[in-house]
Amino acid sequence: MGNKKVILVGAGLGSLASALRLSYVGYQVEILEKQPTAGGRLNILQKDGFTFDVGPSFFSMSYEFVELFESIGEPIPFEVNELNPLYTVNIAGSDRVFQIYKDLDKLANEFKGLENDFETKVRAYLKGAKEIFHDTEYKVVKKNFDSIVGFIASMATVPMKHLPKLFRTFWEELERHFDSEEVKIIFSLVAFFLGATPFNTPSVYNLLNYTELEHDGYWNVKGGMYKIVEGILPLLEKKGVKIHYNTEVKSVNHNKTKMESVVDQNGKTWTADLFVINADAAWFRGHFLNRKKFTEEKLDALEWTLAPFTIYLGVKGTIPGIHHHNYFLGDNFRDYADTIFRSSVAPKKPYYYVNVASKSNPNCAPENCENLFILCPVPDMRVKPNWDDAEELANEIIDDLSKRVGYDIQNNIITKTVYTPIEWKNMFNLYKGSGLGLAHGLNQIGAFRPSNKDEELNNLYYVGASTTPGTGLPIVVIGSKLIQERILKDHPNA
Ligand SMILES: Cc1cc2nc3c(=O)[nH]c(=O)nc-3n(C[C@H](O)[C@H](O)[C@H](O)COP(=O)(O)OP(=O)(O)OC[C@H]3O[C@@H](n4cnc5c(N)ncnc54)[C@H](O)[C@@H]3O)c2cc1C
Repeated sequence: MGNKKVILVGAGLGSLASALRLSYVGYQVEILEKQPTAGGRLNILQKDGFTFDVGPSFFSMSYEFVELFESIGEPIPFEVNELNPLYTVNIAGSDRVFQIYKDLDKLANEFKGLENDFETKVRAYLKGAKEIFHDTEYKVVKKNFDSIVGFIASMATVPMKHLPKLFRTFWEELERHFDSEEVKIIFSLVAFFLGATPFNTPSVYNLLNYTELEHDGYWNVKGGMYKIVEGILPLLEKKGVKIHYNTEVKSVNHNKTKMESVVDQNGKTWTADLFVINADAAWFRGHFLNRKKFTEEKLDALEWTLAPFTIYLGVKGTIPGIHHHNYFLGDNFRDYADTIFRSSVAPKKPYYYVNVASKSNPNCAPENCENLFILCPVPDMRVKPNWDDAEELANEIIDDLSKRVGYDIQNNIITKTVYTPIEWKNMFNLYKGSGLGLAHGLNQIGAFRPSNKDEELNNLYYVGASTTPGTGLPIVVIGSKLIQERILKDHPNA
């Protein structure tokens, strides 16, 4: 056991991955988690015989998990499935259901009659997206930055040919390649993961279409996403990492240069040589360290990703016409995109995502039953703090889904749980309920994002969605590698 002690605040995936990396190179690690379980947003809900993934239901860049376990010399402790098709899209007013395949021949068939010469066009589109992905991966994403100057210098080494893409929107780039509205809408859905719409985010982010359609695709985990956490916990135990559940950090003690301790809700003081914060990196700086750059007013002025409105349904019977991963969209895409981030009322005719885990993992639902996770992205609590209308929105979604799949879901519900942005905020201290944390506009990435190393306290680091490189399961795993690099350099174990 190493002689330096690290306390991680929070047991989300960024923290668990960091704890693995640090404990395996000899640091003494302890984790404080406010919830009774580990995983943060990557969590599990078990109710009335059904098991639900609480948040994430798939991921891209699966090789980041491979890298994590290789780096500690352990086999991957869970099994992954590649999604094929990647997902299914239903657009209101159209009786076509689009299956989105990585295989471009098959994908072309889905758009037959809608987009002439689709295959040639999509190959040209993805070629540009691929180049940006590989030209920025190590210069923007997988790199620590100590200053804005250093970040800009690194950006300046990205080939100049990509420059025009900074001045076009994601949608405009799609318009240059495709005529069909359906193709443009479906390819632009990924923009919402960034905390933006395709109409206001630069076209460099069409690299996300390359990651889904060509590069590594999407994956989930056999037996449910929580197997990731269940696979990590025994490895941490093997290295003597203690996780203290139901332990919420409520205040901190520090001098001018060092974090000295954190204090939990019972007044217990926890000391360590190093601290890694897995709570939101922007919120933590404002709330606990009183930093002027991170006051509530300043945080409210930043761009945040949409908040989740999630419904977990156990349903009697087998629902036809629905697949594992499904998007249900309305017929007013542009208007919807223009208002969804700033509307103070619940969306009418909501757009939503449905994951039916029981389609590939029968153990998560009783026999002849289906297990539905519904995610409707909604405005965060800056704009819509009141959720007294939660039941109404839930019913609207369930009724719409029933009509679209031709199955009376409402009258076959065995169990139902709804989390509004308020529950999401309260469960994991997500800032104003934002589901994926800070958005990823060009002014909020790299050195413009809250750093993973504290500006003032030299033994304080951050990992997770709102620090660098950003949000999403594989991205916070990359984040854990970046802070390990920093810690090994700044505070090596003797
Ligand atoms: C509904 C939803 C669906 C998603 N779907 C996907 C998906 O399909 N694919 C994908 O890749 N990503 C998805 N994401 C994003 C993904 O879940 C996150 O990017 C990732 O899990 C964030 O991990 P993190 O390390 O930031 O930790 P978090 O999950 O934020 O965990 C932080 C932990 O810190 C704890 N904590 C906070 N404050 C304190 C405190 N003061 N004291 C002690 N503990 C504290 C919290 O309780 C929590 O357990 C989704 C997110 C949501 C909300």
